[in-house]
Amino acid sequence: MKRLSGQCLCGDVSFTCEDNFDEFHLCHCIQCQKTSGSAHVANLFTHRNNITWLSGKERVSKFDVPGRNISTAFCSICGSPVPYLTQDSMTLIVPAGCLDTPPTMKPQDTIFWHERASWYEAGIESPKFDGFPT
Ligand SMILES: [Zn+2]
Ligand SMILES: [Zn+2]
Repeated sequence: MKRLSGQCLCGDVSFTCEDNFDEFHLCHCIQCQKTSGSAHVANLFTHRNNITWLSGKERVSKFDVPGRNISTAFCSICGSPVPYLTQDSMTLIVPAGCLDTPPTMKPQDTIFWHERASWYEAGIESPKFDGFPT
C-alpha cells in the first residue's frame, strides 16, 4: 500500500498515512464553511489507526462543534487543518488539502449541499487565471 505524506502550512505538524480511504466527501455545511474559511472542506475518511505522526502532534488543537457530530483540528502555529479523530474516535478524518501526495480516491459526493455558500456557484463559473488576474 502506497504511503502518503502530509503537513500543515508551516511544516511543524507532519505525518504519513496509507493511501487507503473509505470515503471522500466535499462538505458544504455551515460549520465546515467556518472551519475552512471557504466554501467547503474536502475530507477523506479512514480507519482510526491509519496515521503516523512525524512531528508536531502536540501542537494540534481540536475543536468539537457542540450539537453536531463535526470537529476540526488545526496546527496551533499556522492554523492549517490537520487530521483528527471523529468524536466517537472510530474514524480518522484527513483534510485532503494537507496531503503533499494526492490520494488515489476521488471525491465521491458533495454533502450538505442545501447549506452551500450563496456565492459558491458564481465562483465555479468565474474566469480562471494561472496566477493573480492580469
Ligand atoms: Zn503549522
Ligand atoms: Zn460539514
